[in-house]
Amino acid sequence: MGDEAEVSIRSCEGCTACCYTHAVGEIQKWEFSTCASCNETGCGIYASRPRACGSYFCAWAVNDIGNDDERPDKVGVVCNTLFTRFTADDPPSILMLEAWPGALDEGPAQALLARILADGTSVRTGTRDGSPRWKYHVLKQTMETFGQMLEENNLKVVWHDI
Ligand code: SF4
Ligand code: SF4
Repeated sequence: MGDEAEVSIRSCEGCTACCYTHAVGEIQKWEFSTCASCNETGCGIYASRPRACGSYFCAWAVNDIGNDDERPDKVGVVCNTLFTRFTADDPPSILMLEAWPGALDEGPAQALLARILADGTSVRTGTRDGSPRWKYHVLKQTMETFGQMLEENNLKVVWHDI
């Protein structure tokens, strides 16, 4: 989605996953919906695409998350670092958005999720049709206090074990 020549470390190549997961207010494109300008090869209005599209880079594109072969359109999730924490003691967190319905339940996304948790980072997942739509994934061994705090605030927590 972004301008690779200026910023990104990894090439988006044929990936258009964030064109589905992310909202673009300028063109009234909502999250978890296919952009009307998205075609098989990428953005159909690339030269005049919204500023939000040109400045966006997922965590994979800037080499923060995933291996080279775990590009979002292959692993089924688009990740971004979350910079907000409820308290200073909370673990760092990654936002993981499902690139197609059911992708989060598939092996590649589950493997990436498990590795991120094992690194001490919690994961907030988002799906289009999920109920609840947003879930917080925490590792019981290292994030128990954080998970309990989330549950006390009525947020959906998925507990993981190593
Ligand atoms: S999801 Fe990441 S790799 Fe894919 S098009 Fe968007 S910024 Fe590029
Ligand atoms: S305008 Fe282009 S870059 Fe932006 S979401 Fe649509 S297809 Fe993707």
